[in-house]
Amino acid sequence: MSLIVTGTIGIDTVELPTGEKRADVLGGSCTYFAAAASFFTPVRVVAVAGEDLPSEHERTLRSFENVDLRGLEKRAGSKTFRWGGKYLANMDSRETLFTDLNVLAEEPPAVPQAYRDSAYVFLANTHPMVQLGMLEQLPSARLKVADTMDLWINIAKAELLQLLGRIDGLVLNFDEAELLTGHRNTVSAGRHILDMGPRFVVIKKGEHGCIFVHRDGIAALPAFPAEVVIDPTGAGDTFAGGMMGTLAADGATGHQKDPASFGAVRRALVAGTVIASFNIESFSLERLSSLTTDELHSRIDAFTRMLRIE
Ligand code: AMP
Repeated sequence: MSLIVTGTIGIDTVELPTGEKRADVLGGSCTYFAAAASFFTPVRVVAVAGEDLPSEHERTLRSFENVDLRGLEKRAGSKTFRWGGKYLANMDSRETLFTDLNVLAEEPPAVPQAYRDSAYVFLANTHPMVQLGMLEQLPSARLKVADTMDLWINIAKAELLQLLGRIDGLVLNFDEAELLTGHRNTVSAGRHILDMGPRFVVIKKGEHGCIFVHRDGIAALPAFPAEVVIDPTGAGDTFAGGMMGTLAADGATGHQKDPASFGAVRRALVAGTVIASFNIESFSLERLSSLTTDELHSRIDAFTRMLRIE
């Protein structure tokens, strides 16, 4: 069943604790999500970039076979969203150095007519008004899941609360869940978010995995024990891409009665965890660009074996 995503296409500058810096690399919530999801199912992209999006970045995006870019607008006279971040020594915490909204502050991208029958919807990080606008254009949505982050909780909380009343699931980092709810306890924060509307919330805790709080139960999943961590940027978006890609692929088999059920989402978290562990092995989309399905599935098998306790 068709998966669609909206979010940012960005030009990122990333600084590591070692002082190493990569400037102007391809990034953005939608970019990472779509690349990751494309390993599991075709994914439709609705996003807007400026005319300054380097052609090599566009080529990288187009190199992912299952990514449908008919909904990517390159707007003349506008500038692409830019973000800069710096990782702290533990590689799990980061500081945003700058966010230049640029084209994000303008008219949002439109959903092409050909995408209107999309059933699985992921609203990757972007302004909640854009996320709400996208939902309005998707009458056939069967599963609606969103991501958010500190910037939007701080500057657009009312719109975000409106969005929470209209989605099935939310995926966010622990710090953001705390900022949104005021709870330092993960389960309490999760339950508070369910009171705001969604049926489930996935609270990510970096190298410590995630806590899944659903109206029908609670589960915890560790992160894949990664030995190579070069650049964690996009870990959250690739995690969501693996999760939603798996749910959409399972939906296509016709066996999935309820895509937001506790069991369906819990199984999909495994794929999200594993593809995120590949993404952090290199800068930008470098690792996903070279990833093979054999490598992916053998790590999913290895992780599944690690989770089994006799
Ligand atoms: P993640 O590491 O999964 O949180 O995603 C990082 C990506 O999100 C980077 O490539 C940024 O370009 C993008 N990003 C950073 N801040 C925002 C924001 N406020 N809204 C949307 N995307 C953002």
